[in-house]
Amino acid sequence: MSLVQGTGMKIVALAGGVGGAKLAHGLAQILKPEELTIIVNTGDDFEHYGLYICPDLDTVCYTLAGLANPETGWGRVDESWNAIENASKLGGLDWFRLGDKDLGTHLERTRRLKAGDPLSQITRDFCKAWGIEHTVLPMSDQPVRTMVDTDEGELAFQEYFVHRRCEPKVKGFRFEGADEAEPTKRAKEAIESADAIVICPSNPWVSVDPILAVFSPLFSGEGLGVRSVAISPIIGGETVKGPAAKMYRELGIEPSALAVANHYQGVITHFVMDTVDSQLTESVRGLNMRTLVTNTLMKSHGDRRQLAEAILQFIGSDS
Ligand code: GDP
Repeated sequence: MSLVQGTGMKIVALAGGVGGAKLAHGLAQILKPEELTIIVNTGDDFEHYGLYICPDLDTVCYTLAGLANPETGWGRVDESWNAIENASKLGGLDWFRLGDKDLGTHLERTRRLKAGDPLSQITRDFCKAWGIEHTVLPMSDQPVRTMVDTDEGELAFQEYFVHRRCEPKVKGFRFEGADEAEPTKRAKEAIESADAIVICPSNPWVSVDPILAVFSPLFSGEGLGVRSVAISPIIGGETVKGPAAKMYRELGIEPSALAVANHYQGVITHFVMDTVDSQLTESVRGLNMRTLVTNTLMKSHGDRRQLAEAILQFIGSDS
């Protein structure tokens, strides 16, 4: 049986920001809207200038809508920076760059949240306005805050990630509010009716673990209960972007695709790693996972689609 378009199979993708958004876009090029639900990390969310900012949700939505900045992978294409530069001249904070177009998203989201609308409803309305047909859901309507324990004390995620440029040494992570946060109703339904779950090549520590923490009560027994595949964000021992490899090192683990597979042991049944890591295949199989070795570096839109196709064939091929 093939899981590729038109089979009516339902896929749930778990995504963080940049790496997650690229694969989500690849999957969206193949799967019909009713076949794909993307559940996004909101542990990175924070308030800045009184505005409620959801970096990963916005990165996924801008990418799916074709509005993302291709250079950075985050923020909007053709962006200008008048508001933040003016605020900065007045003595305001400028360590978190907010573009003018992007600010519109945060203004309207904050207004709606203050009016009492849940984040999932706001996201749904924004997706409609941006012409996104696939379902994008925050992992929860309740706040979860990723806290990074470092050699300089515990830091809120954006403080660590953007303000301190990931310089402090990581000692661990805490997902404040994850125990109380409920998965959104639609996310719960999507997971319960999913034929397979795809864990995108996002940072395992700070993009995927917060989602798994919120969803863990849903998963009784072994793993996620359905076929589930993770794609390694570590290629040749390094990240494509961001601090995941540095985090592994600081936690005393050699960063590699095998370390990522180990991270997800008990959660996933299938694992995808890059061709440069093919020598790790036997070790990953030893973790009782089926493996696929392929090109996982998504430089172009074509790469995103090709990787998505390979993943869908892989998880559909053994049933
Ligand atoms: P963030 O929240 O913006 O940091 O985004 P994610 O957690 O979704 O993505 C960061 C991770 O994506 C990093 O660990 C990168 O190595 C990984 N990543 C980015 N681009 C690619 C790619 O093209 N292929 C693979 N395999 N991983 C990627």
